[in-house]
Amino acid sequence: MFIEPSIGKNTLKEKAGHIEVICGSMFSGKTEELIRRLNRALIAKQKVEIFKPAVDKRYHDMDVVSHNENAIRSTPVQFADDIMLLAGNCEVVGIDEVQFFDTQIVNLAISLANSGKRVIMAGLDMDFAGSPFEPMPQLLAIAEYVTKVHAICMKCGGLASYSFRLSDSKQKVMLGEKESYEARCRKCFYEDKK
Ligand SMILES: [Zn+2]
Repeated sequence: MFIEPSIGKNTLKEKAGHIEVICGSMFSGKTEELIRRLNRALIAKQKVEIFKPAVDKRYHDMDVVSHNENAIRSTPVQFADDIMLLAGNCEVVGIDEVQFFDTQIVNLAISLANSGKRVIMAGLDMDFAGSPFEPMPQLLAIAEYVTKVHAICMKCGGLASYSFRLSDSKQKVMLGEKESYEARCRKCFYEDKK
């Protein structure tokens, strides 16, 4: 379980910000973990803003929705730079599905953290081919805290860190849930990879 670093009660200006990244395959509970951290900050009456890429329209536009339907209000944005304009005076910035932003998100995360904010990002670390999902490698490198969460392999019940695509599509971004993907362990992923 991730334990929040001491954040203290200093003003935003005096505070040292930092970056947390939650990564893993589909069905690994990334969004649930993001929501858990954001809710705890909200309970502590910290100012929290939550963003997600406008491309992710699977569910409601305004909510970060995890698979257990534990939702939290969020703002869909087209570009990473929009977050800078909207994050304003908040203390905690949450970003879901962060793998769908371009590499500008790396500079944005650095700027936010340098201005004293706690930045928590959740995203897929690998695509359906098992390759690193840009810009996650860069985000993992600049983060103070990295949490990799795992799913259960839907084929053998082992520890899963891959998102196996059941269809033949070679498109990198193909939104869709249970019907299009399975969480797989390394062995089961590479055995059936097309
Ligand atoms: Zn397996």
